[in-house]
Amino acid sequence: SFPADAVPQAPEDALFGLMRAYRADESPDKVDLGIGAYRDDNAKPWVLPVVKKADEILRNDPELNHEYLPIAGLASFTSRAAELLLSPSSPALAEKRVASVQTISGTGACHLGGLFLSKFYKVAGASRTVYLSNPTWANHNQIFTNVGLPIAQYPYFDKKTKGLDIEGMKRALADAPDHSIILLHACAHNPTGVDPTLAQWREIAEVMAAKKHFPFFDCAYQGFASGDLDRDAGAIRLFLELGFELVIAQSFAKNFGLYGERAGCFHFVASPSSNAAEITTRVASQLAILQRSEISNPPIYGAKIASTVLNDKALFAEWKENLLTMSGRIIAMRKALRAKLEELGTPGTWNHITDQIGMFSFTGLTEAQVLKLRSEFHIYMTKNGRISMAGLNTKNVDYFARAVDKVVR
Ligand code: PMP
Repeated sequence: SFPADAVPQAPEDALFGLMRAYRADESPDKVDLGIGAYRDDNAKPWVLPVVKKADEILRNDPELNHEYLPIAGLASFTSRAAELLLSPSSPALAEKRVASVQTISGTGACHLGGLFLSKFYKVAGASRTVYLSNPTWANHNQIFTNVGLPIAQYPYFDKKTKGLDIEGMKRALADAPDHSIILLHACAHNPTGVDPTLAQWREIAEVMAAKKHFPFFDCAYQGFASGDLDRDAGAIRLFLELGFELVIAQSFAKNFGLYGERAGCFHFVASPSSNAAEITTRVASQLAILQRSEISNPPIYGAKIASTVLNDKALFAEWKENLLTMSGRIIAMRKALRAKLEELGTPGTWNHITDQIGMFSFTGLTEAQVLKLRSEFHIYMTKNGRISMAGLNTKNVDYFARAVDKVVR
């Protein structure tokens, strides 16, 4: 048996702890701005109409069963998932330079990618450190640490402008040892909502190419950020055009509202070369071994739903409409919040609320202000001042703005 003190008490996951506190709060005014899940204007989870349709189709299919998927997952899903990121006309796909594996949503994709790199990213004399943006999605730290890869940070958020610290970021990437692994959020950076412009991505790519760094894209919000699937894949496509070898963790939690179904993919894209297809085949064979020992094979239902939509023209078009509904509502809430704060004359500048994009906004509120919002106004958000824009709606945005106004003054 374990010695009595062998297993120390671990702290509760901060975000899930926040959700628990919110649920226990009995105030009718309570507002949940913690969790990164889309909510409709009534603060309710939203099953995408196109997902409902795909669900109907699957349920009415007499052939539907609950058999195992292959180790690499549902091919009709992973192949369309790769096209979504790279575009159907991608040279990488035509040249068979892409290995795709279905994973346990984006988290599983980050993990499988981390595990793969921890085993095989062995460039002679090169760094194996994974550089993460400061700040980043908190889980990145433990995902990469757990597979034995050292982690480090690069500057990202500029507290003064509440925008991107592009110079600091480039300097850190230039100072990192050659061949470092650089984790990049493809779009809708979590937690800041701050994305580089395409011109800035080009500058970042230039530094990374000069240093032979390895890009690890985490793409959890394609289509959810701008409402445009191609635009949200812009950074990844730029890096591919520039000839990078890279990997991508892809989640369908947000853009399909399939959070609990755990639909995602991990993709390896070899750089163009005469033996790229052969390298890709070898990578796929090793990913299969890792997948087998980790999960055997991935969950089937969410992948089938996404596959049904991705492989049907009409449903695909409807999905794009659903994406616009979600991204549009969030953008409208950004505008409403900024307008209300400016109308109240709340001290500070609030343009960052509308400059930022995606699920989250880094408000600039201090931890003390966040705690006051919670104790006095029943408003729940993470201590770093991040709010989930999806938690705001036409009924609570004024209440939230007035509360912010009070705690800021
Ligand atoms: N990466 C980032 C940056 C995220 O914000 C999220 C969702 N919070 C994920 C990955 C993975 O989420 P999931 O495992 O639910 O797909």
